[in-house]
Amino acid sequence: MSATLFDLKGKTAIVTGCNTGLGQGMALGLAEAGCNIVAVNRRAPEDTQRHVEALGVGFLSIEADLGSTAPIEDILVRTQETFGHADILVNNAGTIRRADSLEFTEKDWDEVMDVNLKSLFFLSQAFARRCIDKQRRGKIINIASMLSFQGGIRVPSYTASKSGVLGLTRLMANEWAPKGINVNAIAPGYMATNNTEALRNDPERSEEILKRIPAGRWGESEDLAGAAVFLASSASDYVHGHALAVDGGWLAR
Ligand code: NAD
Repeated sequence: MSATLFDLKGKTAIVTGCNTGLGQGMALGLAEAGCNIVAVNRRAPEDTQRHVEALGVGFLSIEADLGSTAPIEDILVRTQETFGHADILVNNAGTIRRADSLEFTEKDWDEVMDVNLKSLFFLSQAFARRCIDKQRRGKIINIASMLSFQGGIRVPSYTASKSGVLGLTRLMANEWAPKGINVNAIAPGYMATNNTEALRNDPERSEEILKRIPAGRWGESEDLAGAAVFLASSASDYVHGHALAVDGGWLAR
């Protein structure tokens, strides 16, 4: 029974920002569970494509810059043309800018908010409209952060966006749960990806962070795969508006 609960054979997931890092880890986890992958990236995700295709599932690459909402309709249309319907949306694409709040620019504010929050909302809206039109269940997984719960330092637009992701996850769940769409979030802890390269290269901050992680290590991209498969599968059908921390115990401290 448990294998069936987590089975994604014949399903299709749109995963944004999966050429690298956490998005790649989740795309591979979903593909391993049998899911076709629609990969939305600024550039062709060759490495992800090779690994997904080796698992014997379908793969479609869509090149799009989510710094604007312009490509959103096309993402849904092309998914429909290739796979008929998207069952799962993983809003993973995200960006970060670091500077003291006293110096922080409007450009760094807008660039982060546009990708992390605005496109996440309008892509979710476009996905949900199609699920509702076709009377099909849908699963939306938003990638939140520890800074959905905490303030952080020197990343004002990132904190605002990820706190917003948690709020929007709850709002969308409230509105769409009755329509058969699960909206949940994964809140990764400190993971070894491009996003945290500057932090890991700062010996003082890097040591401070590592000391606070009960699991005693930074997370890896593969660490999100299990949570993504759970929230994409029928195993989570009664889970709505939840943020699942995958953080090595960080929030428990
Ligand atoms: P990453 O930099 O490797 O991945 C970010 C992905 O988003 C890349 O694929 C990138 O190309 C894509 N992206 C950025 N701007 C885009 C745009 N304008 N259009 C399309 N795609 C765009 O870093 P990551 O750590 O794998 O980040 C993935 C997600 O996880 C992000 O939302 C990030 O905020 C979140 N996150 C990361 C950590 C961490 O510790 N690494 C912790 C919490 C949350």
